[in-house]
Amino acid sequence: MGSITLKQVTKSFGEVNVIPPLDLEINDGEFVVFVGPSGCGKSTLLRLIAGLEDVTSGHIEIDGNDATMVPPAKRGLAMVFQSYALYPHMSVRKNIAFPMKMAGVPQAEQEKRIANAAKVLNLSDYLDRRPGQLSGGQRQRVAIGRAIVREPEAFLFDEPLSNLDAALRVNMRLEISELHNTLETTMIYVTHDQVEAMTMADKIVVLHAGHIEQVGSPLELYNNPRNKFVAGFIGSPK
Ligand code: ADP
Ligand code: MG
Repeated sequence: MGSITLKQVTKSFGEVNVIPPLDLEINDGEFVVFVGPSGCGKSTLLRLIAGLEDVTSGHIEIDGNDATMVPPAKRGLAMVFQSYALYPHMSVRKNIAFPMKMAGVPQAEQEKRIANAAKVLNLSDYLDRRPGQLSGGQRQRVAIGRAIVREPEAFLFDEPLSNLDAALRVNMRLEISELHNTLETTMIYVTHDQVEAMTMADKIVVLHAGHIEQVGSPLELYNNPRNKFVAGFIGSPK
C-alpha cells in the first residue's frame, strides 16, 4: 500500500498554467524526491497529491484507486510542514495527538501511537514540554510525529528542513532516512537542495517550470543526465 500514480495531471491558477500534463509513477515504499529551483511547481505538485489543491485536469490514483475527487483527510496521506506549524500553547503530547483527536481515534489507541512515535523519534522525555521549550530539531521531530500517528500510506514532506541550520539539517536528513528504513512507508520529499536529493532519494524527479526533466535514481541522473539542465542541477560533469 502506498503507490501513487499521476495521469496527465495539469494545474492552472486562473489563466496561468503551472503544471503542464504530467505523468508520474511512485511505487509503494519508495523514497521519492521532487527537486528543482524555486517556483518550478514542487509544492503545487505535492499539494495536488495531498488534495490541498484540485487538479485542473487529469487523474490521481492512490493504491490503484482514483483519488482525484477524494478529500485530503480521506486520502491516507500525511503532510509534514515546517516545524513552525506546531501549536505553541499545546504540549508535545497534545500536538502529536491532535490529528488523532480530529479523526476520533480512541484514547487508548492514541496513547499507544504517541508512545511508539515518541520512541522512534527520541521524544519520550519531552512529551510534556511545549514547542517553545524544544530545539529546532526536536520541534521538527514533533511535526513528523504528528504525521506518524496517522499511520499514513505515504508521507509528504515540503522542504521540512529549510528552517534549520546546516549542521542540524545533516542530522535530520539521516533521521528521516532512518525513519523511512524503519517504517518502509512511501515518502515524497520536496527540496530545492541537490545534496538532500542525492543523499536521500531512491528516485529523483527533476522539475523545471512545472514539467519533469528526468526521473531516475541518484546514480542514473549523475551518470546519465538527459540534458544540461539536469546536469547543471545535479552537479554532474556532463
Ligand atoms: P516551488 O514549490 O517549486 O517553489 P510552487 O509550486 O510554490 O513552486 O509554485 C509554482 C508556480 O505556481 C509559481 O510560479 C507560483 O507563483 C505559482 N503559484 C503557486 N501557488 C499559486 C496560487 N495559489 N495562485 C497563483 N499562483 C500560484
Ligand atoms: Mg515550495
